[in-house]
Amino acid sequence: MDKITATQILDARERIKQHYQAMEEARRQQNKEINHLKWEVYGEVIRQIENFRDRAIRELEERHVSLQADKAEEILPYSSIITQAERILAMLTLETEPITIGDDDVVTYGDAAESLGYLFDDDYLKIKLFIITNDRPKNKYSLIAVGRSIFGEPLIKYPRDCGLRIKDFNTGFKLEAILSFAASTDELKKWLAKHRGDLLGSTLKDYQQVKRQYIAVKQEYTREDFKELITWTCPQCKNFRTIFDYRPIPGTTPPCYRHNPYVDMIKTETSLEER
Ligand SMILES: [Zn+2]
Repeated sequence: MDKITATQILDARERIKQHYQAMEEARRQQNKEINHLKWEVYGEVIRQIENFRDRAIRELEERHVSLQADKAEEILPYSSIITQAERILAMLTLETEPITIGDDDVVTYGDAAESLGYLFDDDYLKIKLFIITNDRPKNKYSLIAVGRSIFGEPLIKYPRDCGLRIKDFNTGFKLEAILSFAASTDELKKWLAKHRGDLLGSTLKDYQQVKRQYIAVKQEYTREDFKELITWTCPQCKNFRTIFDYRPIPGTTPPCYRHNPYVDMIKTETSLEER
């Protein structure tokens, strides 16, 4: 190998430097050209194509909105049938348990409740008035109304005031309303004599409407009309469920909430003993 001279070394360094500079210059040039292609040559074309795309999507979306609106309108008569059917079935499967309210059915945490008799009394709704004591320092008597009905929610929404201070375990009251407070029972009775006609007006109005519908449904329909929809019938009370309710798991017997299994068991045992 030939001996390396200092001149050679300096020359090599200079040449390497020049090559790097040339490479750097080429890279700068390339970037410039890329940016030119990107932004100037194709940028405008791409923007135009994007506009075409967005317009096409917008047109499609607008067509879809009106199509959806048309479909919703076409569905309306059918969904109205379903809504009516649900109400009819709710009425046909109503529990017709006794709704009489005894004078001692309201049990308070304090003094005995005084019954003032029925405010409203017919076959499907009974509302009874009671005077009970409350927690107030002065107007310590409350006039309350409690009601039982075969119609529950969603057919009617009854007033349900809190803080009646009655033991309502298992009373089955669908309506519980505080009507007035006073310092004495006499005052409440006087108040009642004056206001009796306007009490629970909107509830009674709703009730009359539901009652009319119920009577009409009972006249027009029987469960036979919907037998194709029935998914389960209670062997004991003929209570039934339809495709509108949950579907029972095949091979199982869903419980019937109309009768308490324990009460049924005791009833069966008692009737066996009687024999
Ligand atoms: Zn049953």
